[in-house]
Amino acid sequence: MSADNESRAERIRRLLDTEGPTVKQNAQGFNEGRYAAMADVDGEKLRSEARRIKEDAIERLPELIETARESVEENGGSVYLADDAADANDYLAEVCADADSVVKSKSMTTEELDVNEGLEAAGVDVTETDLGEFVLQVADEAPSHLIAPGFHKSTDEIAELFNARFDPAEPLETPEQLTTFARDHLGDRIRSADVGMTGANFVLAESGTLALVTNEGNARKCAVTPDTHVAVAGVEKLIPSVDELGPMVELLARSATGQEISQYLSLLTPPTDSPTIDFDSTEPIGGGAEDREFHLVLVDNGRFEMRDDEGLRETLYCVRCGACSNSCANFQHVGGHAFGGETYTGGIATGWEAGVEGTDSAAEFNDLCTGCSRCVNACPVKIDIPWINTVVRDRINRGAEPDAVDSLVDGLVPDDEEPGMDLGKRAFGNVGTLAKLGSATAPVSNWLADSAPVRGLLERGLGVDARRGLPEFQRETLQKWDRKRDAAVREPHDDRAVVLFPDVFTNYVDPERGKAAVRVLEALGVPVRVAGVVGSGRAPFSQGMIATAREQAEAVDDALSPHLDAGRDAVFVEPSDLAMVRSEYEKLLPANRAETLAGGSYEVLEYVYGLLENGVDPEPLPRGDGERLTYHAHCQQRTLGLDAHTEAVLGRLGYDVATTEAECCGMAGSFGYKADYYDLSVAVGESLADEVRESDGPEDRRVVASGTSCEEQLTDLLDRSATHPIELLDPER
Ligand code: SF4
Repeated sequence: MSADNESRAERIRRLLDTEGPTVKQNAQGFNEGRYAAMADVDGEKLRSEARRIKEDAIERLPELIETARESVEENGGSVYLADDAADANDYLAEVCADADSVVKSKSMTTEELDVNEGLEAAGVDVTETDLGEFVLQVADEAPSHLIAPGFHKSTDEIAELFNARFDPAEPLETPEQLTTFARDHLGDRIRSADVGMTGANFVLAESGTLALVTNEGNARKCAVTPDTHVAVAGVEKLIPSVDELGPMVELLARSATGQEISQYLSLLTPPTDSPTIDFDSTEPIGGGAEDREFHLVLVDNGRFEMRDDEGLRETLYCVRCGACSNSCANFQHVGGHAFGGETYTGGIATGWEAGVEGTDSAAEFNDLCTGCSRCVNACPVKIDIPWINTVVRDRINRGAEPDAVDSLVDGLVPDDEEPGMDLGKRAFGNVGTLAKLGSATAPVSNWLADSAPVRGLLERGLGVDARRGLPEFQRETLQKWDRKRDAAVREPHDDRAVVLFPDVFTNYVDPERGKAAVRVLEALGVPVRVAGVVGSGRAPFSQGMIATAREQAEAVDDALSPHLDAGRDAVFVEPSDLAMVRSEYEKLLPANRAETLAGGSYEVLEYVYGLLENGVDPEPLPRGDGERLTYHAHCQQRTLGLDAHTEAVLGRLGYDVATTEAECCGMAGSFGYKADYYDLSVAVGESLADEVRESDGPEDRRVVASGTSCEEQLTDLLDRSATHPIELLDPER
């Protein structure tokens, strides 16, 4: 491990021990709230509508900026389009030139621009009025979450901080006492401030209206109390009009905190005064704006380049709800102080940081995205966040400087990457080749790989953590077994036939689960042959080796297409390989090829479910007789909506199935092997293992997991081994 790697591993360990427990409680609370709140609406319809609105707004961005300029100026305000952070800060310094004090509501864009630092350097007193931001200002810390900047801090920590800083007459202890103190303190600041600065969740171009979505009401106080109001917003916050606001508002609070709607939704068309009702007055509410000043600062700071960048453009659709963070198992355990860059945190932070700060900032934390894909269905605007992370990872790989060692191995490796990329990543990306070699030379390869000197070399050279057990390669692969055997279809079912895809793990490490799949399908009357290709490209894809993944996708297409053309269905034992075909090949292959492969490919239990639903008799399969199981579905399988099929099949065969809710096992392919991330992987895995233990009752349940990684992690952490569900169905069991 390099010194740099050590510091990363140490930082993760420190955060796991310090901020981790509070972050986990809060992130999981938001995440559970999101599931419940989204269950009340037609989420798919709303998300599609929100996506359409954002796609259209970003497409029409130059036009919307001009419309907003005209509207705001007509209302009596001004619009400034800032090219970058320096430009924005110069303008703000000018606006605040005569101000002694500025009060701010929460705004990630002003964090991005370092507005506080700029104003404070000019002698302006700046006060954050969002409770979380205020806590962090007092603590002199950076936000750890997009919407809940201080959610890494417990009540006790905040009480200690406030008591030390403000020395109140009576020590503050409870959330109510802390909130009341902050409200009074900040209320005074707001009343005496010269300038109020807000962000904007949305800017409605047609009317020049700001939509502020908050839970504390501080944003509207900042907007209307001081005589001057400045709103700072990225250009991507523009939407055409109030007509487009509905789906956004409907989704934002549900996705963010699990609320049906936030406590405050303020629609302000500044310059505007406090809308105080005076029953004796005939003046319209909200009048008295003549002496007020309003500046809308729209910020580019790299966003127009992101708009032209196919890999980053989707990032601009982000409404910054934080759902991708809350649904991310790694984020749930370490929070944004590890999983974040200069400003932004969580899964989508890679896109924001790469766009506004540069690839180096994104490189600091990009590897914390394991591509589990649990954020994809959580995102209210359907951003393919893992793909953005993969694209940026690929750029990071390609931007690395070649070094002597890598130049030596370059040309010897069977990939399509350029010199200079991290050797460990390159090894994990080529795991298919290593497994082929390991299998051909087993058992010597296993003995050698497990010897202390080799483990030491693997850790120092490739970053493979010595505490993690290595897979044991089998000499007889699934493909070899298939070539030797006699097919054993009992009674053919219709004209269905299957080509079974031998993923790397099934073929070289655990052929037994592949054999079980063959026997189950043939027992149900479906002839099976094993495909002549291994590896879907998942391994290189997960390391950001897109060119190599594309090459492997083409090989899979070449191998499977003749089978699909001949009317066979492609069946996958490993959900992550199926997810490659169904979700990722559309980025790697011509559209028609990707569509054909995706349409003809199935997860093995999904396929069995389909057969049983279509009248195939399950009689040849062994029964569960009420055996108690805990089932953990693979993360990507859940994203594809295929976990229910396994539950249904196991239930139908008589098993008593309890299903886990953890978003991910923490192993995530190579992630759990990496020395930098081993502790985090185990911490995430332990949360899942705890869930399994809780489901046990007086006697242990059998543990069943669909994914290779999940099986490995659970077997490592529990005192019993996990098995693939297809093995329970094996007629030879
Ligand atoms: S990427 Fe999606 S889920 Fe993540 S913060 Fe943005 S809108 Fe929310």
